[in-house]
Amino acid sequence: MGIWFTEKQTANFGITAKINETLAALKTDFQDLQMLDTEEWGNMLVLDDMVMTTEKDEFVYHEMVAHVPLFTHPNPKRVLVVGGGDGGVIREVLKHQSVEKATLVDIDGKVIEYSKKYLPTIAGSLDDPRVEVLVDDGFMYIAESEREFDVILVDSTEPVGPAVNLFSQGFYAGISRALKDDGIFVAQTDNPWFKADLIYQVFHDVKEIFPVTKLYTANIPTYPSGLWTFTMGSKIHNPLKVKEERFTDIETKYYTPELHFASFALPKFVKELTE
Ligand code: SAM
Repeated sequence: MGIWFTEKQTANFGITAKINETLAALKTDFQDLQMLDTEEWGNMLVLDDMVMTTEKDEFVYHEMVAHVPLFTHPNPKRVLVVGGGDGGVIREVLKHQSVEKATLVDIDGKVIEYSKKYLPTIAGSLDDPRVEVLVDDGFMYIAESEREFDVILVDSTEPVGPAVNLFSQGFYAGISRALKDDGIFVAQTDNPWFKADLIYQVFHDVKEIFPVTKLYTANIPTYPSGLWTFTMGSKIHNPLKVKEERFTDIETKYYTPELHFASFALPKFVKELTE
């Protein structure tokens, strides 16, 4: 059988992958970090026993966090990524020529260090001259920012440990202040099979603050249940009204202009969480 890693979603269900080798296992100041060489998915980053990203399917999540809001905004120049220490979202953000500066704020420098070492195809863009990397608490950073960003992307861990504050209404109010007058934000908001309450709560909290609030999904095989959601809060721009000419040609493996719109078509039981 060999050795298998299992992320337990409930007491009765988990996702599992065969491990070739444990490349690293340590306690950082904030969380347990493991880097696993898996047979099926390549190198896999695990924090507090939850899969964060894998070499084989990372592109789905990172493209969908970045390109849906960045194409919705007509001219994104300043982008902030909260969390995202593996560098995947930053790599996608930099594909947009209009972006002059992208700031990454992850609370845990060890995630950045180990991602650079073991996930070079994901973390490689962190050394790009347009990128500023800060090791800091995203909640505090947001609280101190005002009208600075065109787009803010929240690529955080689940709402446990250091990320608890990143799922609060106070945080979304801070994001609204940190955004310019036509700014957009997106946060990963987990899966509707096991985290329906969380999605409902976040969606309605965001809706109280942002005039345009939308939920969209993507299929991510190594995240529990595979069906993943993203919540978008936008001050003006509507992701469903992006004009065809806005979609400049960038290299992707999952995102397409057709999928941009299609990702907002929700299964009924998911749509009900937004009502
Ligand atoms: N894509 C993954 C997912 O959906 O499971 C998450 C990626 S992982 C890189 C998330 C990052 O959020 C971690 O590196 C963690 O250190 C960071 N993080 C957690 N709480 C944070 C906080 N309060 N401020 C900044 N970064 C935080």
